[in-house]
Amino acid sequence: MTSDRRVVVIGGGLAGLRCAARLTAGGAAAVTVLGEEPHAPYNRVLLAEILAGRYAPEVIALPEPGPALRRGVRAVRVDRAERAVHCDDGAVLGYDTLVLATGSNPVLPPLRGLFEPDGRELPEGVHAFRTMDDCLALSAAVRPGLRAVV
Ligand SMILES: Cc1cc2nc3c(=O)[nH]c(=O)nc-3n(C[C@H](O)[C@H](O)[C@H](O)COP(=O)(O)OP(=O)(O)OC[C@H]3O[C@@H](n4cnc5c(N)ncnc54)[C@H](O)[C@@H]3O)c2cc1C
Repeated sequence: MTSDRRVVVIGGGLAGLRCAARLTAGGAAAVTVLGEEPHAPYNRVLLAEILAGRYAPEVIALPEPGPALRRGVRAVRVDRAERAVHCDDGAVLGYDTLVLATGSNPVLPPLRGLFEPDGRELPEGVHAFRTMDDCLALSAAVRPGLRAVV
């Protein structure tokens, strides 16, 4: 690869950032990482420690990849013919190589009554636990006498 080779990585989690760091360190490519989460990159594995109050969010931060990471930007469409990624902020990024490092979504069980008919948002008081936002929302919900079912 030459250094003018454009790599777009969709997903600013552990996998996407590690991949970008390797490619950037070798000078092999001009890398852009799209990360829909607005937070500084973090080690998801340690989220429970934040919820438990053992760590502050900044303790689990991953090394910032600098301008390579476009935080808070979601890829919404891939145009394979044009080799371009369309983002929710209107940007269109051309690529030579596209990396999908989008992780996973929590599987929500098919529990009757969990969603409103045709609803897609979890109701108040029901949380998934995958992201920093989930963790902060759960922390904010904790109060003395709270009863939780996991
Ligand atoms: C609470 C918790 C504890 C865990 N503990 C462990 C553990 O102890 N050991 C272990 O091995 N694993 C653990 N895991 C699993 C581990 O965190 C994942 O395997 C790992 O984070 C996967 O990394 P990833 O980069 O592939 O995906 P992710 O970390 O999920 O990162 C993917 C990123 O891509 C972003 N993204 C998705 N779609 C788009 C899009 N269209 N545009 C832009 N960005 C997008 C997502 O928002 C996310 O930030 C745990 C997970 C959780 C939630």
